[in-house]
Amino acid sequence: MDSGLSITAEKLVEVTARYASKINVKDEEIEKLVGLSSKVIAKKVSQKVAFWLVDQKETLLYCKLCGKGPFTKKGLYLHLTRLHKEEIKGMLMEELKNEIRTLI
Ligand SMILES: [Zn+2]
Repeated sequence: MDSGLSITAEKLVEVTARYASKINVKDEEIEKLVGLSSKVIAKKVSQKVAFWLVDQKETLLYCKLCGKGPFTKKGLYLHLTRLHKEEIKGMLMEELKNEIRTLI
């Protein structure tokens, strides 16, 4: 396992949960986490994974991983980071690998 990827994925779990919960994420925050050179890929991967984490019905948010909800934005964020941290990290790692593969 690539430990660099694992570290990057770990750092992006929180940001990804915020994207999924429709909580604002600033580009500078991602840059601070992963550095300028990885910012674009990190943002793309986080937003892609975030899309798989949430089901939105009108204004209500549901967890796509276990079907629970509806949640408030904050509630979904807490649910994802507390209950699904490892799953999200795994999904981020897979997507990071895919992204890197297409670059080489
Ligand atoms: Zn869930």
